[in-house]
Amino acid sequence: MMLADGREFETTHAIEGVRYNAYGCPGTAANATRVEHPPEGGARVVPGKVAHWLLSMDVDEGVTPFIVTCPDHGLAAESAFYPKDLVMRPSLWPVRIIWRKATKGEREAELREGGDHYRRGGLAREWTPDLPRPLPSWVTSGRHG
Ligand SMILES: [Zn+2]
Repeated sequence: MMLADGREFETTHAIEGVRYNAYGCPGTAANATRVEHPPEGGARVVPGKVAHWLLSMDVDEGVTPFIVTCPDHGLAAESAFYPKDLVMRPSLWPVRIIWRKATKGEREAELREGGDHYRRGGLAREWTPDLPRPLPSWVTSGRHG
């Protein structure tokens, strides 16, 4: 995907030199489950507060927020604090959020509007155009097999 600053990054598989993180969205109240990957393999749905993850990628050094608003549900999705194992799961892809340094124009706009997020080291966010993957039917039906 091409960013506003002209750089291009692959968002469908892992690349070197960036940091991956994930934000856990609770989904709808009725669908407040999460998928567990037990050591013996496979996956199972258990009650929990994460219904799905938003994979993110930091392409620059800087500060990212603890919470983002999930574009699919409008709910607060919390950072998983850069867990390595989480990012290795194929079901998390593609990347949904890219964090990068703000452009000159974005920094100037922030100055005009009186903000200080970028000035204090905050990164700018871009949502990737990739659509979320639909949950598998065994998740949405609530049957755990
Ligand atoms: Zn969501």
